[in-house]
Amino acid sequence: MNCLQAQAMFNLFIDDKLEDDQLLDFIKHIKNCPHCQEELEVYYTLLTGMKQLDAMLPLSNNFSEDLWKKINKEENEIIKKRRRKLQSNIFTTFCVIVGCIIVGISFKNAFFSMKRKPSTDPYYIANQLRPHLFYPPIYQDIPVRNKE
Ligand SMILES: [Zn+2]
Repeated sequence: MNCLQAQAMFNLFIDDKLEDDQLLDFIKHIKNCPHCQEELEVYYTLLTGMKQLDAMLPLSNNFSEDLWKKINKEENEIIKKRRRKLQSNIFTTFCVIVGCIIVGISFKNAFFSMKRKPSTDPYYIANQLRPHLFYPPIYQDIPVRNKE
């Protein structure tokens, strides 16, 4: 952000109408640019003073101090908001991973228990007995009973 861009945002900053990303860029510029700091202090004093007069409020004793309180407060709020968002993203990711593990284990257990449970397979007993029932296979020599 250059000085012109920053100065175009003075009104928006004073009226709290900047988006978080813009506000952070703006604050970063103001903190590093003595020229814009001076301009902003003049603007802030004029606009805030007029608002206070309009609203019949007592005039501030130190507009410069008020301005820096506002700048630091806004910056801290954005940092807190971002930290909270990051924590919530980490928590969501953790929940999704745990959910996937639980679903995976459930599927694995269901799959293996299906294989183990004879009652779920209607042909389980037949399949278990088949090799014994037809051994020796019927197409082999059938023992003749009455050979005499
Ligand atoms: Zn500047």
